[in-house]
Amino acid sequence: IIKAALQTGAQAIHPGYGFLSENPEFVEAVEQAGLTFIGPSAKAIRAMGLKDAAKALMAEAGVPVVPGYHEANQNPDILKGEADKIGYPVLIKARAGGGGKGMRLVERSEDFDEALASAAREGQNAFGDPAVLIEKYITSPRHIEVQIFGDTHGNVVHLYERDCSLQRRHQKVIEEAPAPGMTAQVRAAMTKAAITAAKAIDYVGAGTIEFIVDGSRDLRLDGFWFMEMNTRLQVEQPASEEITGTDLVEWQLRIAAGEPLPLAQDDIPLMGHAFEARLYAEDVAKGFLPATGTLDHISFGHGRVETGVRSGDAISPFYDPMIAKVITHANTRPEALTALQKALGDIHVVGPATNAAFLGALARDAVFAK
Ligand code: ADP
Repeated sequence: IIKAALQTGAQAIHPGYGFLSENPEFVEAVEQAGLTFIGPSAKAIRAMGLKDAAKALMAEAGVPVVPGYHEANQNPDILKGEADKIGYPVLIKARAGGGGKGMRLVERSEDFDEALASAAREGQNAFGDPAVLIEKYITSPRHIEVQIFGDTHGNVVHLYERDCSLQRRHQKVIEEAPAPGMTAQVRAAMTKAAITAAKAIDYVGAGTIEFIVDGSRDLRLDGFWFMEMNTRLQVEQPASEEITGTDLVEWQLRIAAGEPLPLAQDDIPLMGHAFEARLYAEDVAKGFLPATGTLDHISFGHGRVETGVRSGDAISPFYDPMIAKVITHANTRPEALTALQKALGDIHVVGPATNAAFLGALARDAVFAK
């Protein structure tokens, strides 16, 4: 990639949100080649790269973190003792984890050892790191995250929050912005915590601070905790763009070029409501098995669509099965949800199975609407 950039006279490399976007060695290689990496520094990526170190750093900065154990000692007996102290259910997480890998829910003390062994094994296989952290499992969780942006002049702003609680196997399926039921008071506290987190690592570029939120009650000041930071653009960034009228990739380019942030905090509007649904090539009826093969036909109707595939392309087993994102925006949540239902109904695919009908069912679900 670097060779291609040099050969073509490119000045900078945008890593997207995939494999290379959170790889500090890649950032260093790009910079050593005299090119600009469109994203944060290798140092900031490293600071947030391991979930345990990130949590320790955030706790130090005064940001509330999920209660649990995130120390270095990995002696199984010590870990089990910590889990017993935290109280079940607990969640074991590979500290290098991502994409839901290396995560195990443990409901009873007697199941701990086996879950620990399998989480560590998965961490080792997927990330080359068997170390884990342990968290109190929040039993009615909501996932709410804050979009932040920093420039090279020391400014950091937020672009409100996204709610990504609708998940399957701890992975986001439908996201929305802003979060339903958000109050001015809780928003102020969450965005302040997010900006504190970003400033603690001199963050430059687009980033997301993820919080786990107690969803068993209304949003409260003492009911949200830092979970992790993603030091890159997110898949769900269009939802934030829609409610703020911004183009976050344009912002990334401007900031990488050394410009100050395009807008001051008070000038960033919050307009209406947005949804994003992730279209996957997967066979829902077969237990969400990834589907592969030639995409004979794919077309979309209403709404904004972001996709990297066209009719005739092949879906291979080598990459994430996401093939498109469908985004809708309207003045109110019910209107945006109706638009999402319509947009999902307008997807036509001939070829590999997709989750379009499943997404449509979710979007029409009365509980989700409520
Ligand atoms: P990954 O980096 O592998 O995606 P995260 O730490 O971001 O893992 O967690 C992914 C999802 O798992 C969260 O959005 C949430 O649904 C669930 N989760 C994570 N931590 C907890 C917790 N302590 N209690 C309950 N659910 C959790």
